[in-house]
Amino acid sequence: AYNKQNLSLFMKSGVYRFEDSRVVFVDPVRVLNLSYTHFRVTPSSYYSRFFESSPRVSETQRKRKRKEKKPRPPLNQREQAADQRHQRVKPLLMKAHECLLGANDLLLNLGKLRTDDRPPNLTVASDEHSFVELGSVWQAPLFEISLHVNQDYRLTEGSIPVQDCEKRYIQAFGSLVANETNSDMEADFLNRKYIIPKHSSFYMFVLQSSYVCLIHMWKSDLKQIHGLIPVKNECGFNLIVIDPPWENGSANQKLKYPTLPNRYFLSLPIKRLANADGALVALWVTNKEKLRIFVEKDLFPKWGVKYMATHYWLKVKADGSLIGELDLLHHKPYECLVLGYCYGKGEDSEYLSKLKSIPDCQVFISIPGDYSRKPPIGEMLREYIEPARCLELFARELFCGWTSWGNEPLRFQDSRYFSLK
Ligand code: SAM
Repeated sequence: AYNKQNLSLFMKSGVYRFEDSRVVFVDPVRVLNLSYTHFRVTPSSYYSRFFESSPRVSETQRKRKRKEKKPRPPLNQREQAADQRHQRVKPLLMKAHECLLGANDLLLNLGKLRTDDRPPNLTVASDEHSFVELGSVWQAPLFEISLHVNQDYRLTEGSIPVQDCEKRYIQAFGSLVANETNSDMEADFLNRKYIIPKHSSFYMFVLQSSYVCLIHMWKSDLKQIHGLIPVKNECGFNLIVIDPPWENGSANQKLKYPTLPNRYFLSLPIKRLANADGALVALWVTNKEKLRIFVEKDLFPKWGVKYMATHYWLKVKADGSLIGELDLLHHKPYECLVLGYCYGKGEDSEYLSKLKSIPDCQVFISIPGDYSRKPPIGEMLREYIEPARCLELFARELFCGWTSWGNEPLRFQDSRYFSLK
């Protein structure tokens, strides 16, 4: 009976909690869709490769396999430390995976998560704007976005929304664009349509990537966050999710987005963005030992954040198997979210006592989306913070109740990812 109830809850909320454990299975599409009133993210535009029944082994994967079959050279000191960290969490991750494999009702539904019950949008990825490129042209500060105010979504025959609405023009880069209404909004930007969920806002900034002085320009970019610092810290954010563009072999290789050396993140003014009562800070990190040490020893102390817990994102395929072996030296099938608390006025605030109930070592399992999208764990952390004032840094999507900051917060808001409900 517990499982049945759980499954029906999952179908509505996208969250499946395993009994008596800190393990949660998440369907990011269902969680995302709770942010929208008239639109829905189409599962086929979110999920991709891990649904292929007989996964095509790409040339790089084949090379990697060949490489990893060779006897490993002895681990250096840092790799040994990373391995010890991994060995400590491995039993926890294996147990979490067993929970999933034991939940037959859920397993039977995994393969169906990508099925669209409405026609997906047929535009192709190559038509989308690249905000990384757009933000680097000199005209960027002049671009405008037009928000459709009071749009009527009653459908006409061809399921095209009635276009008789007022338009509000706002500077697209370098200003806070908000949908403060109770309804989704459409927005036009350079001949493409974007979907802005209710009660969401974003600040998109110019990423001037002149290749001559790349690092120099990026450093000045991060200063653009000052536009989000509240005048009064009672209005500051109490939940801050950060997914920085860490330097890392694979991100650089595929050049999906620009990355920054670790030291640049030290200047993020987390304390000034935080609420007077404090803020829960959730930081995505890679499995690199050097980075983990930097976060513990330099970054959190510089931000004024005290370590609280570590959560894990375990990645599975649609058949429930892990996307890769747990013991691979690189490309492990999990990532980590480090949680910390940025203290406000008092150390015994109401917020803090609730946050203390956040369990350590929580495991979130999901099937990864395309383009290395992270699952929306921030939405799940909201249960510990009431009322939540949420901020995501380096965001590529929008959520109801969140401010998204980055150089491409509209990345996944292109209408090609959506259909009408
Ligand atoms: N959490 C996101 C998701 O799940 O889709 C992924 C974030 S990704 C790790 C990092 C983001 O930071 C990318 O969108 C990248 O373009 C952006 N970025 C790169 N350099 C930046 C800079 N100097 N300032 C701000 N954002 C930057």
